[in-house]
Amino acid sequence: MATEYANYINGEWVESATGASFAVTNPASVDEIVSYHPASTKADVEDAVDASVAAQDEWAHTPGPSRGSVLRETGELLAARKGEATETLVREEGKTRSEAAGEVQRAIDIFHYYAEKCRDLGGTVKPASASEMDLYTKREPLGTVALITPWNYPIAIPAWKLAPALAAGNTVVLKPASEAPNASRILLECLDEAGLPKGVANLVTGSGSEVGAPLTESDDIDGLSFTGSTGVGTAVAQTAAEDLTRVQCEMGGKNPTIVMPSADIEQAAELVGAGAFGTTGQSCTATSRAIVHESVYDEFVDAITGYAESLEVGPGLEDPDVGPHVSDSELASTLEYVTIGQDEGATLETGGIRLTGNDYERGNYVPPTVFVDVKNDMRIAQEEIFGPVLAVIEARDFEDAISTANDVDFGLAASIVTQNLSEANRFVDEIDAGVAKVNDKTTGLELHVPFGGYKGSSTNTYREQGDAGLDFFSSIKTVYKSY
Ligand code: NAD
Repeated sequence: MATEYANYINGEWVESATGASFAVTNPASVDEIVSYHPASTKADVEDAVDASVAAQDEWAHTPGPSRGSVLRETGELLAARKGEATETLVREEGKTRSEAAGEVQRAIDIFHYYAEKCRDLGGTVKPASASEMDLYTKREPLGTVALITPWNYPIAIPAWKLAPALAAGNTVVLKPASEAPNASRILLECLDEAGLPKGVANLVTGSGSEVGAPLTESDDIDGLSFTGSTGVGTAVAQTAAEDLTRVQCEMGGKNPTIVMPSADIEQAAELVGAGAFGTTGQSCTATSRAIVHESVYDEFVDAITGYAESLEVGPGLEDPDVGPHVSDSELASTLEYVTIGQDEGATLETGGIRLTGNDYERGNYVPPTVFVDVKNDMRIAQEEIFGPVLAVIEARDFEDAISTANDVDFGLAASIVTQNLSEANRFVDEIDAGVAKVNDKTTGLELHVPFGGYKGSSTNTYREQGDAGLDFFSSIKTVYKSY
């Protein structure tokens, strides 16, 4: 019998007000129930927000280094549970063991990074125009913040919101995605064991409409950090902005890699393939368009098709190259886009089917899929698919490639493969994306530099991660002190 878990409110593990729960299933074997969690409602959100508001003043006045000690200990406790957390991610989200281990390590590193930041929250000192006056800034917490997270990085994203929010002195209500809430539950267990005072961080599980919406509408929330789809994020941003709540939404992508004639085509195919098919294509930064110069187009198509077909697909626990889709609805969405691409006249070069039989029968598997002869105005080149599907588009020259790359509603991550310095520099200057990479894949991020998107990928108000992660969760007070 799968374990029934609880919400974490005011330092206690409590069931939802209604007692209702929902099941999390294993994407590699959909008959296996991983765990049950509270199907919470507005009443539970209000309890969590009340607890968070009550704990705010004391946490805000806890010295930064003491807050840092709790974060450091949380990182240590998570490190001690790395094996368990890794296996949990694989079983609830479907990613491969290696991908999950990397993500758990990322969460550990994030807690350690912001633990040190607690000694270095910063502020600036400037010379005042008057004599005998101090002029400086100080960072203060926003207050009580809501964090709403997606399923695709179920431990890294909650970590990269929780750690800076707590470091800056805020109290928190976290609502994780219902597909993969256990990773957040483990984080809250570690925070609790590390001695976080009651009410400072709270976890409420449940649906977007029953938990996410009341959090977004709450008058007691001073900041809201959301990661998820552009559709939901746009509505969340509009609602939160009605009462001037500070809001940050990081959303979808349609990320291109440009391949120019000077590239080593085998290397380019490996970079594009790793970006497109790693994490089953379920990354906001996944490569979904390869925009390839016409002189190397055929060679690239051969190379990327060979790469795609070389990848092993299977249950994440066996650590293949590519795991299953997180849910049957995500699987159905990918297969629908395969049909859309074929109807639009693109050529399906490889993949594009549901895998069945043996290990695959009860899982949500689609192999790496490559469409060629894609035009950039096709839906498969414009809409986020969120599966292991790559559209290969031909470009006449560099200008054509850049204008194709920019001709989408998203602007999250982009890369170019070239040995030409001028092309590399122009790409960095001209690409409309929050992350620009040269001779690299679109996926993969450092935790100590800002991350966020342009256009429909982000509200583009604040960045996440690094120092920028603290900026969202802080107010800046300017002090004029005459003596
Ligand atoms: P989603 O938008 O469906 O859900 C995200 C979260 O919002 C979940 O917790 C969900 O329950 C909640 N939610 C749903 N309806 C809500 C409502 N009405 N009010 C408040 N909250 C609500 O996204 P998903 O399917 O979980 O995640 C995949 C998406 O996330 C993709 O579009 C991906 O590109 C994006 N993503 C973006 C980034 C980034 O940093 N830019 C990172 C990871 C994922």
